[in-house]
Amino acid sequence: MYKSFLIKYGEIAIKGKNRYLFEEALVRQIRYALSFAEGSFEVRRLQGRIYVDALSEYDFDEVMEALSHVFGIVGICPVVLAEDEGFEALVKEVCAYFDRVYPDKHKTFKVHARRARKNYPMDSMELNAALGERLLTAFPELKVDVHRPDILLCVEIREKINIYSTEYPGPGGMPVGTNGRAMLLLSGGIDSPVAGYMIAKRGVAVDAVYFHAPPYTSERAKQKVVDLARIISRYAGPIRLHVVNFTDIQLYIYEQCPHEELTIIMRRYMMKIAEYFAGQDQCLGLVTGESIGQVASQTMQSLAATNAVCSLPVYRPLIGFDKKEIIEISEKIDAYETSILPYEDCCTIFVAKHPVTKPNLRVIERSEQRLGEKIEALVETAVETAELICVEAERTE
Ligand code: ATP
Ligand code: MG
Repeated sequence: MYKSFLIKYGEIAIKGKNRYLFEEALVRQIRYALSFAEGSFEVRRLQGRIYVDALSEYDFDEVMEALSHVFGIVGICPVVLAEDEGFEALVKEVCAYFDRVYPDKHKTFKVHARRARKNYPMDSMELNAALGERLLTAFPELKVDVHRPDILLCVEIREKINIYSTEYPGPGGMPVGTNGRAMLLLSGGIDSPVAGYMIAKRGVAVDAVYFHAPPYTSERAKQKVVDLARIISRYAGPIRLHVVNFTDIQLYIYEQCPHEELTIIMRRYMMKIAEYFAGQDQCLGLVTGESIGQVASQTMQSLAATNAVCSLPVYRPLIGFDKKEIIEISEKIDAYETSILPYEDCCTIFVAKHPVTKPNLRVIERSEQRLGEKIEALVETAVETAELICVEAERTE
């Protein structure tokens, strides 16, 4: 029934000179998202607005679903675009719109006209009054309510006349690609996919690194991480996922270092390796799913100890979230069901009975000295043998 959608965007409009770049990125992300919906679409910018035009048949819910993944969109308005053929033609168009969209006329309404083109013969006040009157004549059951109308009918006089009255909420945030790129440490758990989603919401493109430990962790555990990356990529766009074989490093640390320090030392090596790939992919920071106090390796002392090996900033979008809040987002983005699949994680395999909860950085560094030069060689091998998987969301054919 609608051939076009008017895309409303908030925050990005205030970005002054950068506005053009933001709109470009938004258009690009909308195109990407719509490539997952059946049908063919045109996305265009016109006078500070973005329109999606359907060039073929399409499924309304599918388009809404696709657009709900595009950060930067605040609202989606199905819109009728009418040619300006005089006031009487406009009345006809508006009445036809109303009739089609609201079969039940026992409603209150208000017309909200805007004249973006000043050469139109009536101003917005005149339009409000005249269109309101004509609607009341056409549909006597209607009532006007200027304060809290059931229906706010927007009529905007632009190059074409925009008629719309419903706005579906978008996800907010900023278009991906407007705030650089970051490297996400992605495990198969609940937290890190949510962290990836959160950073993408602020316009940051995402690459990822996953550490697995075959044969201690299975192929299915790895596939689960690929699936999670695919879920994030619906929001974040294509993701380069680096899969690092961490087994030899883990075994060697296990052999050389006190077991209660194992997790911290392992995590420090994860960060180092992640930083290497971050450099390769031009990432401006690392991202983890850590939240203060969640587990022993996420106390303030532990976070300080892992942080100490990084020269890039480490972003932890979930730092102040409770598990319950994280799960809510995980469910909202459809990651939860995948995250809770019970495959083993490399961190849990060699985990100590009583890990240190307040590691002392100097003590940790001293333990690491036992690793000698051999650890450098192991890290080098891990980096060199890493597998690169380019993950994209699945398309409907
Ligand atoms: P998650 O649910 O994200 O796995 P978690 O609560 O299990 O988090 P940890 O296992 O301590 O917490 O991991 C903390 C963070 O370290 C994760 O959020 C993730 O960013 C990173 N991380 C942990 N294990 C891995 C792994 N195998 N590969 C990549 N990153 C990892
Ligand atoms: Mg985990």
